[in-house]
Amino acid sequence: MRADVAVVGGGPAGCFVGEALAKRGFEVAIVEEHAEVGNPACCAGIVGVDGLQELKIKPGKWVLGKLRRAVFYPPSNEPIELTRGKVEAFVIDRATFDRELARKAAKAGATLLMRTRCVGLKLGREPVVRLKGGGETEVRTRLVIGADGPASIVAREAGLLKTARYLKCAQLETIAEVRADATELYFGSSFAPSFFAWLTPAGDLCRVGLGTSQGDALGKLLSFVGTHPAASTKIQPSKILNLCVGLIPEPLTKKIYADRVMLVGDAAGHVKPLTRGGIYVGLSCARLAAEVAADALGGEPTAKKLRAYEQAVTKRFGREFELGTRACRIFERMTDGDLNSIFELLKREDVQTLVLKHFDFDNHDKLLRALLSKAPGLLRSLGMKRILKYSRYLLKP
Ligand SMILES: Cc1cc2nc3c(=O)[nH]c(=O)nc-3n(C[C@H](O)[C@H](O)[C@H](O)COP(=O)(O)OP(=O)(O)OC[C@H]3O[C@@H](n4cnc5c(N)ncnc54)[C@H](O)[C@@H]3O)c2cc1C
Repeated sequence: MRADVAVVGGGPAGCFVGEALAKRGFEVAIVEEHAEVGNPACCAGIVGVDGLQELKIKPGKWVLGKLRRAVFYPPSNEPIELTRGKVEAFVIDRATFDRELARKAAKAGATLLMRTRCVGLKLGREPVVRLKGGGETEVRTRLVIGADGPASIVAREAGLLKTARYLKCAQLETIAEVRADATELYFGSSFAPSFFAWLTPAGDLCRVGLGTSQGDALGKLLSFVGTHPAASTKIQPSKILNLCVGLIPEPLTKKIYADRVMLVGDAAGHVKPLTRGGIYVGLSCARLAAEVAADALGGEPTAKKLRAYEQAVTKRFGREFELGTRACRIFERMTDGDLNSIFELLKREDVQTLVLKHFDFDNHDKLLRALLSKAPGLLRSLGMKRILKYSRYLLKP
């Protein structure tokens, strides 16, 4: 078949960009390897309320819960709770959410090719997306958009993966004793080196997950569930309903366009550096991609024209990605003792007030900048040795 735009991947980013381009009158084909969008999905499903509003996505029947508070468990295991009393984020059912975005794309005129896997690309003046599994064997197109997740075949075939880095994650759903409006975050190098574990209520169930850049994420998760002094008392390991593993990309480690090729969502590494949430950032950047693509398709969508996409992303999220990535570099290198000291600071009323005043669920750079502006005082509390140990990671990305 032929289409102006071939979108590989029918996840949130693919459906969102597909809908936007179909609405502008382009012929769009969305290729999805699974029989159903959003299934399987490995995701905690936490999405900021303000971010969704900005994207003009009204809460639907996919909202499973509303989060008002976060409880942090440092390695010392003395919990610290933060809340502004208002609903900050929804916990969503990804299958229903993704399906809604797919329905909107189809309604706007996009063709969905389900159970159809992209197995390769032929790039050139008229790119060809090679397919297997469904009724079609190829899409001849003018522009390929890779929305095919962290292990993107489009990114690989277009040579855009050179410095890509990933976080390994595992998650399960089970019965657990958690508050319906609180997500819990657990820090400690013995179970989640370089990242953290989470317990997030999702309707009647609880999503228990963990990310790490070292070793086997699933093994670490099962060990966390069985042995963590606080979390293991809340989780019922005999009631685990499902287990999944997934990769989350690191921002700024991929190029996001080439001649007649663009990447969106996880395929582009569009996630928040600190929490690695990708739904809001992925959709925001997919919207920018659609604007640039629509313009470029007025002529030939060459790399020169598509560069505007990277510029638009940098303008909107560049500072967020840069500052967040630097903060991550420091966090990844922190010993448990240093993490305990940071969380001790968070117990101070003045620090809590600062954090709650500047916290923005989807834009962490606001808080990071506020913390940096108070840096001399805060850093003094941490001690000179620690400042010297980590300051070079703040200066160099
Ligand atoms: C454990 C875990 C927890 C997470 N929790 C959160 C969270 O709480 N909040 C948040 O915002 N983000 C979270 N994320 C990240 C979030 O899931 C992703 O950022 C989001 O799914 C990215 O959407 P996407 O459309 O780019 O990619 P995906 O959702 O991965 O969709 C890609 C689609 O492409 C399809 N595909 C892949 N290859 C091919 C191919 N060759 N041919 C055809 N189709 C193909 C796949 O089947 C899939 O449907 C989490 C991730 C993990 C792993």
